[in-house]
Amino acid sequence: MRLLDSKLVWRFPSVSSEKMRVFSLESVIEEFEALTNDAGRLQTESLRKILEQNGEAEYLRNLGLGGRTDPESFRACVPLVTHRDLEPYIQRIADGDTSVLTGKPITSISLSSGTTQGKPKFLPFNDELVQSTMQIYRTSFAFRNREYPIGDGKALQFIYSSRQVKTKGGLIATTATTNVYRSEQFKRTMKDIQSQCTSPDEVIFGPDFRQSLYCHLLCGLIYSNEVQIISSTFAHSIVHAFRTLEQVWEELCIDIREGVLSSRITVPSIRSAVSKLLIPNPSLADSIYNKCVRLSNWYGVIPELWPNAKYVYGIMTGSMEPYLKKLRHYAGSLPLMSADYGSSEGWIGANVNPSLIPELATFAVLPNIGYFEFIPLEKPEEQELENIASTIHYIESEPVGLTEVEVGKEYEIIVTNFAGLYRYRLGDVVRVAGFHNSTPELQFVCRRSLVLSINIDKNTEKDLQLAVEEAAKLLAAEKLEVVDFTSHVDTSTEPGHYVIFWELSSDTTEEVLRSCCNCLDLAFVDAGYIGSRKVGTIGPLELRVVRKKTFERILEHFLGLGAAMSQFKTPRFVSLSNSKVLQILCRNVTRCYFSTAYDI
Ligand code: AMP
Repeated sequence: MRLLDSKLVWRFPSVSSEKMRVFSLESVIEEFEALTNDAGRLQTESLRKILEQNGEAEYLRNLGLGGRTDPESFRACVPLVTHRDLEPYIQRIADGDTSVLTGKPITSISLSSGTTQGKPKFLPFNDELVQSTMQIYRTSFAFRNREYPIGDGKALQFIYSSRQVKTKGGLIATTATTNVYRSEQFKRTMKDIQSQCTSPDEVIFGPDFRQSLYCHLLCGLIYSNEVQIISSTFAHSIVHAFRTLEQVWEELCIDIREGVLSSRITVPSIRSAVSKLLIPNPSLADSIYNKCVRLSNWYGVIPELWPNAKYVYGIMTGSMEPYLKKLRHYAGSLPLMSADYGSSEGWIGANVNPSLIPELATFAVLPNIGYFEFIPLEKPEEQELENIASTIHYIESEPVGLTEVEVGKEYEIIVTNFAGLYRYRLGDVVRVAGFHNSTPELQFVCRRSLVLSINIDKNTEKDLQLAVEEAAKLLAAEKLEVVDFTSHVDTSTEPGHYVIFWELSSDTTEEVLRSCCNCLDLAFVDAGYIGSRKVGTIGPLELRVVRKKTFERILEHFLGLGAAMSQFKTPRFVSLSNSKVLQILCRNVTRCYFSTAYDI
């Protein structure tokens, strides 16, 4: 893709950088329109390029493509795979083998967040993935900027790198976001298209996320008048940051007043970088202090402390939706804009309709960053349920191409990309909301894996989220909220039953919690669940309330395993195999209730 910014600034030095940005962003939009007008041809072209570049890789050679690069031969020769199938190949790459999955050697390994399966997955990463990341960032930024233009200023970005380790073969293994932040292209693109981060690199790359978070807040406040965007990769990090602000704001004010960094920051590189930005500023400290004191329950803290911020930005869809209520509370009048759709495996689509509320956000697939197929998924009819194995939630048909998907239907995405994944099942379910030119605009539905299933019942993380939302309405009257939640299937007793773990913002009465428990039980509307509950083959749902900060301990547990704060997603289901997380939850249970909703 032709990306113009730096060249144009050089060619037209008299044009202000703001005008320059608008001008070059319009050309990004033009490029996007051209790409999406020609999605079908570009898909065939992308596949050809991928297969030509990687034809010599062992994996492709063994599949007998014999140099053919057309979609029909590709589909006939290359099987659909899951991560488990590719694991041995990726492990060999990590151990130092080359030409296993790609023609050019893989340059690093990405670690997925690991919060879905309980342990991080290894995935190949290379420059092509950085390029597609930048293309997605530029595209959605160009559309955002058209509706919510920003001038020259700064961005308060709650971004964090994760630990980097060397594999046996000498490759760096770290989270995909860290791989992106490390790249020169990322720094250039951020400077070109977006505002500069308020925090120095030492904060982003610091070894202790708590210290980094404190300094992100501090640097954001130092530059409070210049900040135009508040963002993070996933919305969870923004909510987490503002929950922390509620606790440390007075300390932050002291630091700004005295120009001396809190003793809680002990990492020398962070101390030194942030101390350079800190000069005694009593008037700023007073103004922040007074604003914080005046706020009612922190409502609208973002526009209050960052008066020139234009919007809040981050992934707010899928497993991030439960944090939207709190995010709206902090954002007050500021618009929330949901970021793009991707994964450690690679990017899928850009949000080019920024004014849609996060619940309706869509992602236009970029047809030149990979080759995409879609497995049509249909829910079985109620009468078919009993004859279908309990693990089957959807009836699948043959995969279709990018331009063959139908509006309103649900699909699982299959990715073929420039980093060695061929017909890889991503495990996400999406719905086609419409088309942008000839490329589909996708809505994220959920991870495909079932979270709750005992016999014929089938509930996904989306079903769980909806049930929790329904029950949480009973808390709203009490001015309480669910801070976070997860689930478990307890089969240690006969019959097995669902367990929902809740962390609440404060305590409430037994009566309220009993009603919440009954409400949760009734809110799982899957026919298999209702049927099983009625005949007693699934026992009463159990609601376990956990102590405050329990979910923070779970976050710390995952960070200890190498996950990055930037990519963290609370696991919505905890199985027995994830014994450490289950232990953290069970140790912190303060109260538990069994539903009586189906009692006769
Ligand atoms: P990871 O590679 O561990 O960071 O996780 C990638 C997964 O995060 C994807 O497969 C999706 O399930 C989820 N995800 C990424 N972007 C979005 C988005 N915009 N909306 C909803 N879920 C997303």
